[in-house]
Amino acid sequence: MLYDDNNIFAKILRGELPCEKVLENDYALAFNDIAPQAPIHILVIPKRPYESASQFLQNAADQELVAFQRLVGEVVSLKEIHDSGYRLISNTNRNGHQEVPHYHVHVLGGRDLGRMVF
Ligand code: AMP
Repeated sequence: MLYDDNNIFAKILRGELPCEKVLENDYALAFNDIAPQAPIHILVIPKRPYESASQFLQNAADQELVAFQRLVGEVVSLKEIHDSGYRLISNTNRNGHQEVPHYHVHVLGGRDLGRMVF
């Protein structure tokens, strides 16, 4: 599948749409989800175009993979949710109900998130 350059996150990365930026580094950007499902709901996205977790994990350079994961860690530190706990989610494709076809990790925290849904 070809990456869709017109997806919302691609537009955010090009500066065509605004976002509430939380953190960034050379390879990844973290911003608040527009429809938060928890008191803390942040999306972390790679700056390069990958449509899904699998595309990213299979094709990103080591440096990119590390920078992305580090940014997730920095979001957790910044929001001080390590001790209370949090959840990382990557919805992928149809069964995963991925709405935006640019890889992203949801960082959710700030309340009891309940048990994982199967
Ligand atoms: P997913 O189902 O994993 O693809 O989730 C996409 C997420 O993107 C949802 O949680 C949306 O609320 C969020 N979202 C959609 N548009 C925006 C936007 N312009 N800024 C921030 N978050 C957005």
